[in-house]
Amino acid sequence: MIGVVWLAAAHLRAPLRITAPRRMLMSMWFLEADHVRIGRLVVGPLDNNVYIVAAPNGVAVIIDAADEAERILHAVAGLTVTAVLTTHGHADHTQAAEAVTNRLGVPFRLHPDDQPLAGIANIVPIRDHEVIEVGDVQLEAIHTPGHTPGSTCFKLGSHLFSGDTLFPGGPGATRFPYSDFDQIMESLETRLFTLPDATGVYPGHGAFTTIGEERASIPGWRARRW
Ligand SMILES: [Zn+2]
Repeated sequence: MIGVVWLAAAHLRAPLRITAPRRMLMSMWFLEADHVRIGRLVVGPLDNNVYIVAAPNGVAVIIDAADEAERILHAVAGLTVTAVLTTHGHADHTQAAEAVTNRLGVPFRLHPDDQPLAGIANIVPIRDHEVIEVGDVQLEAIHTPGHTPGSTCFKLGSHLFSGDTLFPGGPGATRFPYSDFDQIMESLETRLFTLPDATGVYPGHGAFTTIGEERASIPGWRARRW
């Protein structure tokens, strides 16, 4: 069952019909499962994925207020957003964070090790293994350093928001001075590939994958070192 059901709900249909571009109406909600609905917007010049996780009672969080603040704000109209969670401090993942958090009056959540990268003073730090309540569902923060020191994934049941730590076909880039290939591989192997094969992986850019689809490629990634 996908987004059509949710878009027909009266409390969502009215604000979305007035304010949302057509492509958002057609594509935002892509999953309804495990007592939650998950939506995605693709924003900015690097096609960043912005995810919206909404509980049945309308309480929601935004994962990566990456860019195009107005589109994000339109997308959450009618929801009660409680926080902007951030996978890491790179600018393409945080450009709309101050605008969105200020307008919604919610905290900007980021692992403190990435605060220097983000250059945003007012954060509420995310802790490893922190449980973040969204209505009556829970996300777990999983610190996965390597792409950046503070990179963090968010797990919700069998769904994983992986930021730039895991993509279809490999780990995120480790070409930056503060990045570390061995560290990202350790994060992947000890913290993400311990999850069941059926876990859906929703990265910070591009297409979705699963833990099971990527698992067999780990030796190849280690050999090529990217
Ligand atoms: Zn990044």
